Amino acid sequence: MKNKQAAEIFREFLKRGNNRITPERFEVLDAALEFDGHFSADELFISMKNNHSRVSRATVYNTLELLTHADLLSLRNFGAKVNRYESNYKRQDHFHLVCIDCGQIMEFTENKIEIISKEISEKLGFETSSYSFNIFARCKRKPDCPYYNAT
Ligand SMILES: [Zn+2]
Ligand SMILES: [Zn+2]
Repeated sequence: MKNKQAAEIFREFLKRGNNRITPERFEVLDAALEFDGHFSADELFISMKNNHSRVSRATVYNTLELLTHADLLSLRNFGAKVNRYESNYKRQDHFHLVCIDCGQIMEFTENKIEIISKEISEKLGFETSSYSFNIFARCKRKPDCPYYNAT
């Protein structure tokens, strides 16, 4: 197991919820935390399969859900039909800028967003748990975008 501390958090979470503690679930945990960037359940499943894992697609799907509830992963939706996940473990809160032409995703941090989120929650009598913020934009000027030079 590569991520011992995260595995401990997950084990406690599974115990609390009376979920079964299986080696496959910890295999998914490691693969998810090692994955570079944002991934869909299928992308993770395929990359695990390519690494000769025998974990089933169903196990990948339901373990990702559990890991999200355990706050080890964040669920993201960048406007596409598939949801994506990313590691939340030992990572700073961040937001996303999504290119609607080529799909590339840039991460950024911005204190003002955090302050405004907290202010709004407070005003409405809530306590902020987490927040997510996406900007959808066009990166036409970036040479690595396939739409560069178009028009
Ligand atoms: Zn682009
Ligand atoms: Zn991200």
